[in-house]
Amino acid sequence: MISVEEHLAAILAAVRPAEPVRLPLSDCLGLVLCEDVRSLVDLPGFDNSAMDGYAVRSADVEGADPAVSGSAVTLPVVGEVAAGGVATVPVGPGEAVRIMTGAMVPEGADAIIRVEDTDGGTGSVEIREGAPVGTSVRPAGEDVRAGTVVLGAGSVIDARRTALLAATGHGHVLVRPCPRVAVVSTGAELVAPGQALRAGQIHDSNAHMLEAALSECGAVTTHRLAIGDEGSEVLRVVDELAGQVDAIITSGGVSMGAYDVVKEALRETSTVDFVQVRMQPGKPQGFGTVGARSVPLFALPGNPVSSYVSFEVFVRPALRTMMGLLPAGRPVLRARLMHQLGSPAGRTQVARAVAVRDDSGWHADPVWGQASHFIADLSRANAFLIIPPDVTELAAGDEVEMWLLDGAEGRLSAWEAKHGHTAPDSVGRAGPALTHVRADGSAQMVDVSAKKVTAREASAAGRVLLSPDAVAALRSGDVPKGDALAVARIAGIQAVKRTPDLIPLAHPIAVHGVKVDVDVADDAVEIRATVRTADRTGIEMEALTAVTVAALALIDMVKAVDKHARITDVRVVAKSGGRSGDWSES
Ligand code: AMP
Ligand code: MG
Repeated sequence: MISVEEHLAAILAAVRPAEPVRLPLSDCLGLVLCEDVRSLVDLPGFDNSAMDGYAVRSADVEGADPAVSGSAVTLPVVGEVAAGGVATVPVGPGEAVRIMTGAMVPEGADAIIRVEDTDGGTGSVEIREGAPVGTSVRPAGEDVRAGTVVLGAGSVIDARRTALLAATGHGHVLVRPCPRVAVVSTGAELVAPGQALRAGQIHDSNAHMLEAALSECGAVTTHRLAIGDEGSEVLRVVDELAGQVDAIITSGGVSMGAYDVVKEALRETSTVDFVQVRMQPGKPQGFGTVGARSVPLFALPGNPVSSYVSFEVFVRPALRTMMGLLPAGRPVLRARLMHQLGSPAGRTQVARAVAVRDDSGWHADPVWGQASHFIADLSRANAFLIIPPDVTELAAGDEVEMWLLDGAEGRLSAWEAKHGHTAPDSVGRAGPALTHVRADGSAQMVDVSAKKVTAREASAAGRVLLSPDAVAALRSGDVPKGDALAVARIAGIQAVKRTPDLIPLAHPIAVHGVKVDVDVADDAVEIRATVRTADRTGIEMEALTAVTVAALALIDMVKAVDKHARITDVRVVAKSGGRSGDWSES
């Protein structure tokens, strides 16, 4: 086994910056400039006006002062010039030319009077306020002189530098091109997303993930292939691609199984090494160069999280090196763990986490599923936590190294910034085996006849996140459909009586009392339901159903005002009575 650092070093030693090419400006975003670029023009290119107004000789309007009555000066308007036009009429003594922003200043004029300081006349103009020589005139060459170097070789081209290159006359520049990459998925089980699955098949997520990750780091996917588990096919495809692309990424077929075709086939080429890296996830890795052009080939593991982590840790730095950028591209920060985290001895763990920042710094909440098949948890994460091989146990509050995957601003929409992630990690996860399922798989309602009848009460709460417009409409009673809060309350009460019909294994029980409260808060409606019974089984499901159905009824009432209304935090907050005793949330 080799360390993460050793494997990365071997990769970086084998890749070279791409040969520069001349590309149109619109294809240069994020690329490294490979020449010193000199301006082809003066900026501004000629003396021009900073204002809409009148070009004059300053001396002619010297005495004009709005504070002194009778001091205004009236001049004949002898011409007009707009941006893009040529100032053909000079401004003689005692004359004015009407002028627009960006237009050439006519000969003879030495100041521009803003239209606001005049009567706006066209035949003649009354000027109420004078201006010193040079006022609102943008002199030629003030910003950049023709011939000066405006951007040096090695600069990364971003939007602001693109403005400079365009303004100084460059339609094409010499840059290191973005790598053209082929992505090859292996595995007989793979089917393209959007197609129906047969037994044993899965959708190919790696190919699409890699294409997206390549695009994020400035590379372009020229080929996206899914091949089966035939070694000969792997060799044929790699041989063909090696003549056409700058890098090849395969996924799958590199571990210890019976169909690890990538490893078996490419090993024979002897230019690709297969190694075990002391990393979790992503232990099996292949890397080498193929074909006459020594194209780098990355053979990544097939598990989706392993594939993604491998891309970030090994492929991204290599591609950045090929682009002439620094290999390290992610902001590396220190963060405090929000929960304890175990880590395997002797392996660098790349744990996925949700990172948040407050006044005291960054905090990292490791996602629930750290195994390499948890794609939903990967998608929730916005950070990697890099846990060194010698650390096996970290406590809440411990400081860890963190790579921020989405940059400092993250990937929050305005909605998420306010309300949190769209997929809280309680949604969609399969739980432990059902207790109400018999060994043969059939459902059963537990026989409670032996249990004692006791007085029981349960409270549940939840909220519906709403836009400011929807909150305002609820407060002012302006929801077009009617009294949304009353409807929600009634719906919650009705739902309690229907709970056993909705929840398959819930017992029908005698409901003795129901209270549903619906309160409008700043950005949500808070719903709380308390339900009472005297029976043999608990009444928490009734309370939860009340909250959920009240929330649904509310959404139905306000959806015309807020189509993004969202139910969150539905939970039991208190219960009393029954064998498991009394309990409350706080
Ligand atoms: P392998 O290394 O080929 O045995 O793959 C390891 C695991 O990753 C298996 O469960 C594969 O089904 C899964 N896998 C391989 N390739 C992909 C892919 N392109 N997309 C999603 N899962 C994959
Ligand atoms: Mg496979």
